[in-house]
Amino acid sequence: MSRAHEKYDVFIGLEIHIHLKTESKMFCSCPARYGDDPNVNVCPVCMGYPGALPAVNERAMELGYLVARALGCQTAKTTSFARKNYFYPDMPKNYQISQFAEPVGLNGMMEAGFDDGIRGIRIHDVHLEEDAGKMIHAGDVTLLDYNRAGYPLLEIVTEPDLRSGEETEAFLRSFQRLVRYLGVSDGNMDEGSMKCDANISINLPGKGLGTKVELKNMNSPRFVRLALNHEIERQAKVLDGGGSLVQETRLWNENRDITETMRRKEAADDYRYFPEPDIPPFRPDEAFMAGVETSLVELPLARKNRMAQEYHLTPEQADFLHDEKSTADFFEETVQAGADARTVAAWLSSDVRKLCNREQISLAQSPLTSARMGSLLNLISSGKISGKIAKKVLDMVFTENADPEAIVKKQGWTQISDPAELQTIVDAVLHEHSAVADAVRDGDVRQRGWLMGQIMRASDGQAAPNVANQVLDKALGL
Ligand SMILES: [Zn+2]
Repeated sequence: MSRAHEKYDVFIGLEIHIHLKTESKMFCSCPARYGDDPNVNVCPVCMGYPGALPAVNERAMELGYLVARALGCQTAKTTSFARKNYFYPDMPKNYQISQFAEPVGLNGMMEAGFDDGIRGIRIHDVHLEEDAGKMIHAGDVTLLDYNRAGYPLLEIVTEPDLRSGEETEAFLRSFQRLVRYLGVSDGNMDEGSMKCDANISINLPGKGLGTKVELKNMNSPRFVRLALNHEIERQAKVLDGGGSLVQETRLWNENRDITETMRRKEAADDYRYFPEPDIPPFRPDEAFMAGVETSLVELPLARKNRMAQEYHLTPEQADFLHDEKSTADFFEETVQAGADARTVAAWLSSDVRKLCNREQISLAQSPLTSARMGSLLNLISSGKISGKIAKKVLDMVFTENADPEAIVKKQGWTQISDPAELQTIVDAVLHEHSAVADAVRDGDVRQRGWLMGQIMRASDGQAAPNVANQVLDKALGL
């Protein structure tokens, strides 16, 4: 259900952080890489040594503009960085370099599909910043790993346009798909390449925003939904009882399925932003913006709608085929190479999907290529193999990483469609089961299907059913 609460208006806004896929960090040349030993990817810049000079990672800048453009933002003619001052042990500089007054994008809109249709969620701004290090609490001590300090982050701030946990989960999944389509981020919340904080308030209908509560510590879109729905109920109970809400930050406790107070805010945080003196403002030229346009791909929702219409897909097929860009590309490549669109869609969203699930791999990781898919479908449409054999061939493509034609040849699975050859098999079956054959000839046609089954068995499943049927009917005088 989309309308979360029958009694109150609900307002949910998000602050989404994504790690940008770049080789190096935001302001230095240290590798931006996961999984290395602690504190090996550090240098005077990301460790905040006095006098070290940051330099903007131009790739991160391109990706920032690309996302802003994809979200329909006004992209900045001039963008600049600021220092956001606060102390925390995971941040060696004692300030974070972020964007404040001049972010890369402002006033965008992202469309997403909800239970009651497609709706635009307004984007307040898109800005670049750097990540902090990582604190690892180990017993009595806390360890610090600064490999992540200085990672390029892109923050996307939405307006409070979402109305329920369900809508927010759906929006986040659409957003993940969008950044993956653009290739700017993995967007994995459980691996930390995407994070999402939410702010939520409820109020009596028509009264506008209520008292804002910030929610943190939600590590998957599902947890975001659970946390928000829990919070809506909690806030409604407070208001129902005549109480008032406190502006605060709450943490989602995934073990207890509740939100808990982290800190109460007396006043707004004062970060004393001031312009970063070591980084000059950036003014993209025409070539830069042309590069951004070139990198822009057809976005997921548009692609889903187009494919559904162009290829007459069922809603389930369109959902599955557009979910990953590589699957959508695979589908359209196979169709462009001449295969029938609805046949390809049916195979991909059923048999192929099952095999991918069984092997726990994505289609892109699987041994099935669009060329192999095309040749498999060719083998069926040319009558060389039956649909039943095709399923076995597909399975072997996955287990043996071989071409369908080679598998069919090696296994001797070519379909027998030569009438003369089938006649021999039919004759042998009718001879062996002459009593049944006579019964069918005398009008007991129910047993005809059984005879057909014997023919399939005698041919190791290779008899082409349509030709074998004709030969059988003729032999039985039907
Ligand atoms: Zn560094």
